[in-house]
Amino acid sequence: MSSKPDASRPRAADTKKVHIADTQMTRHNWYKHVNWLNVAFIIGVPISGCIQAFWVPLQLKTAIWAVIYYFFTGLGITAGYHRLWAHCSYSATLPMRIWLALVGGGAVEGSIRWWARDHRAHHRYTDTDKDPYSVRKGLLYSHLGWMVMKQNPKRIGRTDITDLNEDPVVVWQHRNYIKVVLGMGLIFPMLVAGLGWGDWYGGFVYAGILRIFFVQQATFCVNSLAHWLGDQPFDDRNSPRDHIITALVTLGEGYHNFHHEFPSDYRNAIEWHQYDPTKWTIWTCKQLGLAYDLKQFRSNEIEKGRVQQLQKKIDQKRAKLDWGTPLDQLPVMEWDDYVEQTKNGRGLISIAGVVHDVTDFIKDHPGGKAMIKSGLGKDATAMFNGGVYYHSNGAHNLLSTMRVGVIRGGGEVEIWKRAQKENSEYVRDETGQRIIRAGQQVTKMPEPIPTADAA
Ligand SMILES: [Zn+2]
Ligand SMILES: [Zn+2]
Repeated sequence: MSSKPDASRPRAADTKKVHIADTQMTRHNWYKHVNWLNVAFIIGVPISGCIQAFWVPLQLKTAIWAVIYYFFTGLGITAGYHRLWAHCSYSATLPMRIWLALVGGGAVEGSIRWWARDHRAHHRYTDTDKDPYSVRKGLLYSHLGWMVMKQNPKRIGRTDITDLNEDPVVVWQHRNYIKVVLGMGLIFPMLVAGLGWGDWYGGFVYAGILRIFFVQQATFCVNSLAHWLGDQPFDDRNSPRDHIITALVTLGEGYHNFHHEFPSDYRNAIEWHQYDPTKWTIWTCKQLGLAYDLKQFRSNEIEKGRVQQLQKKIDQKRAKLDWGTPLDQLPVMEWDDYVEQTKNGRGLISIAGVVHDVTDFIKDHPGGKAMIKSGLGKDATAMFNGGVYYHSNGAHNLLSTMRVGVIRGGGEVEIWKRAQKENSEYVRDETGQRIIRAGQQVTKMPEPIPTADAA
């Protein structure tokens, strides 16, 4: 009901405290909707870097350092912020946590505490209004709109971050976030290039500013591209998707459909040949004694999800096919009536008590017109099932589409039993569609009937 007050909205009493994000954006107030600090970090700083790059020559050593530092800071987000702190998919020793908190801070994407809280909300409330970067609000919104535009923090779904508050590294990084950003985002990469080979300005512009821009855009793709591009092998009810391109861009976070299904698995890619350098880094750190308790879902559980999704796809495909009128919806015919109609020129053939109108098919019968005509007006069950020719699975399927009635009489009990089987639960999919498996068509006899008198 539209008149019912929304619990998540402020009540009338405190309307003066309405968050700007909950008001209509107009020509006059649009600038109030913008988070200018984030605009400066995400858009302003990169633009300044691009401008400076015009007169700062790029040295080879600086370029290589910028790429290396790109990977370090990117892994700070993927292996640190994401898989360690947001999902606890493994445990890390203190030196490794300090290292990840530092390089992750160098990616300039907020503190671990803030990032992981939003990310947990994203997993818990995927695609809903409580998802801080719901792709349902648009691809651009999920990429950076959610940071550029102000959000009412009360709208973001609640999550438990008590574990993060107990991690002194997380708390320290949160309290000293600006120092970490300046130190690891700009000063450290500049120092390495400056002290290393005297390229102070290049280190600042390329390994600092522009590298930040690339790391940000790459890891933002986990929220946008990974919810937009690719396949859904495990569940298609929500937006997360798997794609190699997203994986390449995000240091292996591109198998996002898997990730949303099994978020506490330290892997995103489960096949050895899939690109997941974050997983390889965590694994290597384990060998070095820096990481431990790497969590992994049993392949039995993973394959169950995959099979269920495949089954869903098959059900959808099956529903589009013509499997013939269900037996219990067919009219009951007297045997004499059946014979009579055939005599009057209607191409009816009874197989296993089911009457089929093959009038239009006689000329197309692969075994020739004469063969099919010889069965008209008779009980052709045996002929069809090996007496003359043991018809293929395809033939039984095709035959079912020509059903027009069911014979009353001798075969009745048998036929109704089969009709019940065809309608019983175990041969229906979850949408209620009948599942007709190969060899289980009602017209099919379990064993070929021997050619006693084929002629
Ligand atoms: Zn996601
Ligand atoms: Zn995640």
